[in-house]
Amino acid sequence: MIHMENVNKYFGDHHVLQNVSLDIEEGEKVVIIGPSGSGKSTLIRCMNRLEDISSGTARVNGFDLTDKKVPILKVRQKVAMVFQNFNLYSHKTILENVILAPINVLKVKKEDAIKTGMEYLKKVGIEDKANAYPSQLSGGQQQRVAIARALNMHPEVILFDEPTSALDPETIQEVLDVMTKLSELNITMVVVTHEMGFARRVADRVIFMDQGTIVEQGPPEEFFTQTQNQRAKDFLSKII
Ligand code: ATP
Ligand code: MG
Repeated sequence: MIHMENVNKYFGDHHVLQNVSLDIEEGEKVVIIGPSGSGKSTLIRCMNRLEDISSGTARVNGFDLTDKKVPILKVRQKVAMVFQNFNLYSHKTILENVILAPINVLKVKKEDAIKTGMEYLKKVGIEDKANAYPSQLSGGQQQRVAIARALNMHPEVILFDEPTSALDPETIQEVLDVMTKLSELNITMVVVTHEMGFARRVADRVIFMDQGTIVEQGPPEEFFTQTQNQRAKDFLSKII
């Protein structure tokens, strides 16, 4: 589903991803952790070409992302992203937020986009807010809308970049619960998060990044209890 080989990414002369190689299977749930500035966001942003890679191979869902002719909207339809700050359109209602891209990008009929959109709003427990505006919702509710919006593009992969880190403690769990429910579907999930409980419960694999490289990876039980890597141990001791 996602194949990256010897990926390098520079911002100017800052070498932010250094020979990163990574394969993620269809349906796999991967959690990426690591210190601030280690390249986690950059890595997942390279997976739907929000960032171009500087060198190496990046293939996602059959698309070669280094090919300048790749249909980028199709890529982003198949590889959706949920951001830390929700990024909802503030002047549009919740339902409008959820149906906009399917209508404009996928050319779905409005009534069909509404039908599936309402189903997804229901799935994330927020269908009663369909006609409200984002500012009338809590952060956790807005993030659940963002997840419904991603789902309404019928993606194969959803990338999450610290989806709960802008939330109040009491609303973090409601978003994690929705993500846990999502993990039962066959959608490939790549999640940058510091929520280790979520990683233990949901991840098939945890990837630890530091200074632009993948330092270690493995199933969560193994990684959390047996890692011998000093940088990983130091990191875990700070966040658990
Ligand atoms: P955090 O946990 O703080 O979100 P991160 O692991 O997601 O960190 P990245 O955002 O991927 O880290 O950043 C990796 C490095 O690349 C950092 O040193 C950052 O300053 C740099 N960087 C990221 N985006 C850009 C950009 N658009 N222009 C220049 N430098 C950037
Ligand atoms: Mg980041």
